Amino acid sequence: MKTLFPLLIVSILFPAGLYGQNGQGLTRSVAAEQAYLEALYLHLHQNPELSFYEFETAERMAQEMAELGLTVHSSYGGTGVVGLMQNGDGPTVLVRADMDALPLEEATGLDYASTVTTTDEAGNTVGVMHACGHDIHMTVLIGTARVLHAMRDQWAGTVILIAQPAEERSGGAKAMLADGLFEEFPIPDYALALHVSASLQAGTVGYCPGYMMANVDMMDITVYGEGGHGAYPETTKDPVVLASRIVMGLQTIVSREISALEPAVVTVGAINGGTKGNIIPGEVTLQLTMRSYSTEVRQGIIDKIERICRGVAISAGLSEDQYPKIVLRDEYTPSVFNDPALSERIAAVFRISLGTARVLEVGPSMVGEDFGRFGRTEEAVPILLYWLGAVPQERMEAAEAGELNLPSLHSAYFYPDYSTTIETGVQTMTSAVLELLKK
Ligand SMILES: [Zn+2]
Ligand SMILES: [Zn+2]
Repeated sequence: MKTLFPLLIVSILFPAGLYGQNGQGLTRSVAAEQAYLEALYLHLHQNPELSFYEFETAERMAQEMAELGLTVHSSYGGTGVVGLMQNGDGPTVLVRADMDALPLEEATGLDYASTVTTTDEAGNTVGVMHACGHDIHMTVLIGTARVLHAMRDQWAGTVILIAQPAEERSGGAKAMLADGLFEEFPIPDYALALHVSASLQAGTVGYCPGYMMANVDMMDITVYGEGGHGAYPETTKDPVVLASRIVMGLQTIVSREISALEPAVVTVGAINGGTKGNIIPGEVTLQLTMRSYSTEVRQGIIDKIERICRGVAISAGLSEDQYPKIVLRDEYTPSVFNDPALSERIAAVFRISLGTARVLEVGPSMVGEDFGRFGRTEEAVPILLYWLGAVPQERMEAAEAGELNLPSLHSAYFYPDYSTTIETGVQTMTSAVLELLKK
């Protein structure tokens, strides 16, 4: 992998007055960990595990933290690991990485590609791949811990390192908080995390003050009718037609009932019913995802879906016990709201650490990340999640020349320029913690 910006240039970029010895020391300390971290990354990449089954990954995370002398708590919220790095009086900063991989067969063709398969909860044999970059997140977490450990005379306070299970199923952060994270350990003054970006070049970072990612809800709707022969629709109440009307009705929620200034999405991703052209079935199922930023819009969408479903059933003459059954899945992911002051403070540090050209302010998106939960407890901890560019330079250039469509996260073809990405991740995350815990 090419290193986009050689370390030499990075160290020259530090203005002496502001960062001074600290900046140069940081660059040197990061470089000293690079070979170790690349080996750790390759191990994690080749040993991916699915959500809530991150047993060996968690063991490795705990071992890495214990080697640095941290107080380590394992099996927290399932497979979660909490490492406490205490270094005198000062604020507390939580740094979080997620551990889970996805049920995908890696198709990158790389010589270090994952070949792991496993049996999922439905009993199917599936490939397993770190297609969302959580292997990078964990490597950066450990890299940050190692550099902070090496530079412990230059900061004071407490760092809580979190290796979190099940981000992809959105239960991991909730489970760790429910297990007493903010009761058993110091309540953090700040919480930080990063996520690799499949559209930003390795060596860059992107930040987004305020709302960055959406509330994510998943819903199942069963539309009931009265089945019968396809030749006698008048003797039935056709749930295929009712479900179609519901799908079309749902399109008016965002377009007609929510302000154009409020981001919202209602997607019907699956519709299933029936077996044969001449049989009108008894029911049809729909699977939805809904996205929003504010709590009010989120609740409004849910209420409007219920109203439309009920209204369609009433218009078809169905009785109350035949109204559609609506199940909101409980793994709701709250939106990520980056504390604006913290975002600007850390972005300023990144500009010094990486140079202005490598720090980009980016817009929000409608994907979800359960890191938002750490900022949603009653303690109202200010949080910052930022994007860590991961796209190899040559692939970025090919994409810009129209020769390549960059694979997104969750693609079997996604891979980072891991060397540059890890280096930039450790450099930025460590500089953020040093800023918040400076003496
Ligand atoms: Zn993901
Ligand atoms: Zn992810």
